[in-house]
Amino acid sequence: MSEKHPINEEIGELAPPDRLMLTPGPSCLDPRIYRAMAAPLVGHVDPWFTNMMGDVQEMLRAVFRTQNRITFPISASGSGGIEAAVENSLESGDECIVCVNGAFSERMAIMAQRVPAKVICVEAPYGRVVDPQDVLRAGKGKKIKFVGLTHGETSSGIISRLEDYRAVADELGALLVVDTVATLAGVPLDVARQRIDICFSGTQKALSAPPGMAPITVNERVEELMRSRKEPVRSWYFDLTPTMSYWGKERTYHHTPPISLIYGLREALRLVLEEGLEARWERHSQNQQALVAGLEAMGLDLFVKNPADRLVTVTAVNIPAGVEDAAVRKQLLDEFNIEISGGLGPVKGKIWRIGLMGYSSQRANVLLLLAALEKTLLDQGLRLPAGAGVAAAIASYHHASRPATAGARK
Ligand SMILES: *Cc1c(COP(=O)(O)O)cnc(C)c1O
Repeated sequence: MSEKHPINEEIGELAPPDRLMLTPGPSCLDPRIYRAMAAPLVGHVDPWFTNMMGDVQEMLRAVFRTQNRITFPISASGSGGIEAAVENSLESGDECIVCVNGAFSERMAIMAQRVPAKVICVEAPYGRVVDPQDVLRAGKGKKIKFVGLTHGETSSGIISRLEDYRAVADELGALLVVDTVATLAGVPLDVARQRIDICFSGTQKALSAPPGMAPITVNERVEELMRSRKEPVRSWYFDLTPTMSYWGKERTYHHTPPISLIYGLREALRLVLEEGLEARWERHSQNQQALVAGLEAMGLDLFVKNPADRLVTVTAVNIPAGVEDAAVRKQLLDEFNIEISGGLGPVKGKIWRIGLMGYSSQRANVLLLLAALEKTLLDQGLRLPAGAGVAAAIASYHHASRPATAGARK
């Protein structure tokens, strides 16, 4: 007599809801990526797999725009990328500068402190960029190992101009370390031309791959630095040198990488290169412009005042007086299956963050969100000009110089 374990009846087959994720990650996945991830597992030193790893690295180099030998996806989320960048470039007692203007740049500073390094935080409030001249002043006369910053600060929807910090890092003789978790494949970036020494990202944002990997690339200057270290990297797992024996020519085991996720990343990179980086950047830009036009036409206020400082992949909008943060987000989720994000840290309860990243950055999604948000705000007691948001977005698309690719493929 076979007896079913009660668990089998209580816990049914996995059936996640069909959400539209308009958050600062994870973004929605193209169906091709789900198909790739369902492919059979092979071993991590199987010749087929070690050969396929090379394709992933080659495509990553194309997306980062670099020829760096050390370019591969770390088996960790975006935060693991920060950890690896910091741990491999700093030794205890080294001095570095971190430009802190939000939760993720603050995370970099905390990790650097734990090396332990002497960390100079040059700060700006949420929604503002750090003044490069402040960075220069803070580092003058000191032996600064690196200047670290977050290209797109997801916590406040702000973008920093890398050229300005590169110039300052040059003056200080320091490396430039850049977190591009929220920008890679969504915002113009060129690791070689912009001379970024260590650049890392995350897979679940504008790359639109599953979460759990942190692509990283480091140049020869950093390789040399890693060779001449006096003390070993504190973290065994994030030590790039042995990890590179696996991702390098030798393909020597270090740890078992997330094989199925790498399948997904491979397909995501194929999608990026098929679309073309420039076309992809343009698509992200057009969709954000339409979203911003819509939000403003609805009478909502953007958190980042200077349009040039706005991060294209994440739009931060002030929560209007009289409506409740959590209630609005809950209604969007329950009634429309749409997820947007609230604020972090000091802007919690003050802003919403709307992500238009990768596969989520589509015209249809912008129009749907504006309509759903209007209905939700109306229910929450806000008076709005009927249909104004959608109308402004339509006008924005109508006037866009060139139609962006839809982003949808079968
Ligand atoms: C999301 C994000 C991170 C953290 O990535 P996780 O995958 O959540 O660890 C780091 N930096 C930036 C800029 C991000 O947007």
